Amino acid sequence: MSIVNEMCLDFYACPENEAFARLTISAFILPLNPTLEEMGDVKTAVSEAVTNAIVHGYAMKGGTVRMHATLNSENMLTVDVIDNGCGMADVEKAREPFFTTAPDSERSGMGFTIMESFMDTLKVRSVPERGTTVTMRRRIS
Ligand code: ATP
Ligand code: MG
Repeated sequence: MSIVNEMCLDFYACPENEAFARLTISAFILPLNPTLEEMGDVKTAVSEAVTNAIVHGYAMKGGTVRMHATLNSENMLTVDVIDNGCGMADVEKAREPFFTTAPDSERSGMGFTIMESFMDTLKVRSVPERGTTVTMRRRIS
């Protein structure tokens, strides 16, 4: 399973760049002719991870978000969304449906659940005060 394509994008952690990241991942997988469902699922999952980096990781105060993606010879897409923000002490808890630390700002606590259900696999690594790396994989048919 060799890597056949790869991209890496660093961008400022502001809400405008959530759409930028979503469009970038769409452009990256477009040559594989994904179905509309695959395209929508990947865009939604990436947008949830990027939003989390911006609003939780960096608490809307800015910073750098990195999106790194690879495609292998079996059409497996791997996306890492990386921030160097506040991190999480309890990743298991954070991944539970409806768990949110921001209930007052219209957050429903469903971001990780969406990423998990829209992608084939989801891995979350986080170190308090250091940051978070979310790795998602999805095979494009
Ligand atoms: P929603 O995504 O539905 O708007 P939410 O962002 O609170 O709400 P999740 O995306 O599931 O829900 O995240 C759950 C919790 O995990 C967040 O409330 C936050 O406390 C924590 N979290 C998620 N991503 C990060 C991150 N990159 N850095 C720090 N904390 C995070
Ligand atoms: Mg979220």
